[in-house]
Amino acid sequence: MKNIELNRLEKAIRDVPDFPKPGILFKDITPVLANAELFSMSIHAMASTVKDANIDKVVGIDARGFIFGAAIANLLGIGFVPVRKSGKLPWSTESESYSLEYGESVVEIHKDAISPGEKVIIVDDLLATGGTAEATLKLVKKLGADIHSACFFIELEFLNGKEKLGETEINSLLVY
Ligand code: AMP
Repeated sequence: MKNIELNRLEKAIRDVPDFPKPGILFKDITPVLANAELFSMSIHAMASTVKDANIDKVVGIDARGFIFGAAIANLLGIGFVPVRKSGKLPWSTESESYSLEYGESVVEIHKDAISPGEKVIIVDDLLATGGTAEATLKLVKKLGADIHSACFFIELEFLNGKEKLGETEINSLLVY
């Protein structure tokens, strides 16, 4: 993506201090989503990271990963699989728990959502500490998926989320 386009995206992202709690600078991406040109530019750039890789499915993380992931899956002409917070999926699930700053959280996936050997990418809006993405990687591996890479709209590099994701290739559009 050209620098001028990246600048436009950066300007559109709204920094909200102390949300959802004191000390967090929340990256609000809703102004990007509301602008057809910026949103289209973003999903095209994210999808281009797997061009010619013959990906079978896009795995999107609850909830903003659904917005980018579903649009990317549609662009690539492949299926979309949601990874949800616990208790939301109606069918038989595989689950993985991970620690948050305070307490624990659980992510789930339908057991039949990915067949062993299918090549997938994992998509979320933002990589922070990497806990959510790490749990998602483990979950998808349990189903026997071949993980090509993980793709984020934003990466907060100073939080070292990448370290939790081991050898997995990471592609982030905007890095802070
Ligand atoms: P983590 O597990 O710490 O990598 O957190 C990733 C998840 O939390 C992503 O799904 C993001 O949507 C959300 N998140 C974490 N930090 C921020 C932030 N500063 N601004 C917006 N979303 C965030």
